[in-house]
Amino acid sequence: MPDLQTANDSRIIPSGRLAPSPTGGLHLGHARTFLIAWLAARSRAGRMALRVEDLDASRVRPEARQAALDDLAWLGLDWDEGPDVGGPCAPYVQSERLELYAAALEALKSREAVYPCICTRADIQRAASAPHSEDEGPSYPGTCSRRSVADARNLGDRPFAWRFRVPTGAIAWQDLYQGAVSVDPALAGGDFLVARNGVGPSYQLAVVVDDAAMGINQVIRGADLVTSTPRQILLYRALGLTAPEFGHIPLAVSPDGRRLAKRDGSLKLATLRERGAEPRRLVGSLAVSCGWSETAVPSSPQDWLDRFDLGRIPADPWVVTPMWVQSLVNVPP
Ligand code: GLU
Repeated sequence: MPDLQTANDSRIIPSGRLAPSPTGGLHLGHARTFLIAWLAARSRAGRMALRVEDLDASRVRPEARQAALDDLAWLGLDWDEGPDVGGPCAPYVQSERLELYAAALEALKSREAVYPCICTRADIQRAASAPHSEDEGPSYPGTCSRRSVADARNLGDRPFAWRFRVPTGAIAWQDLYQGAVSVDPALAGGDFLVARNGVGPSYQLAVVVDDAAMGINQVIRGADLVTSTPRQILLYRALGLTAPEFGHIPLAVSPDGRRLAKRDGSLKLATLRERGAEPRRLVGSLAVSCGWSETAVPSSPQDWLDRFDLGRIPADPWVVTPMWVQSLVNVPP
């Protein structure tokens, strides 16, 4: 039985978000997922926030922040709140919201929901970024789990991180795209990091604090974040917050089956734009890939508000072929 989420209630006005990480230009996979997330909210007169997820200082590139906004605007997406337009939940940039995450960490500590951990440097390094499927390592073996919050005082100068104590049992939710999903977080990563002491929060903590603070009730994102969802649901519970509904969309892959990487320049929206691609052509082709149309008709995101249907999006990963990419730039005379 789904233990937290209610089924999609059509009476609730969606509040969605676009949450790009400014670590490189957005690519076609982002364009498709963000278009779907935007339509999922806008097709039901919902609100949209834009939040910049820039906590991973080792990967963030300063110029990528504005570039991400430019790419999304070029595609024809808009937002009611964001770093460029402001809004009631400002600031909309995670690196400017550290006090909120620190307060949430204190709440978790006061409930002994976390413990100090001195293990696994690599996994601690990675914690500030969303763990896309290939970054997920084996489950944490629980080496430090016998420590209590108070033990942090005895660690002296040793660097440590705060790890969330995952309870036993599967977490189930009614996914807006995948239907009933159940994941046992103890088997999918185990106790997970919420913050590095004195450094900052992990992606998992920041995203929960922000989605809750911004009133987000609908999170549409790539399927590679499915294993993050039970962790986030546990954080919502531990913090006494209501979780949003989640929808996880099949990923975009290259013909060899690998997830599209930001390093592949030819798939970047900025590159396509420079090569003369028209956003309306791209949106029309994306709509075909989502099963909303048989033929690619140049169109704007608004043109799909009535025909948007999560249920028609094919379940298989979306294979982006070089020919398809080429068709976007070969504009007929
Ligand atoms: N900023 C994250 C990413 O680019 C998205 C995380 C999310 O949607 O929860 O991967």
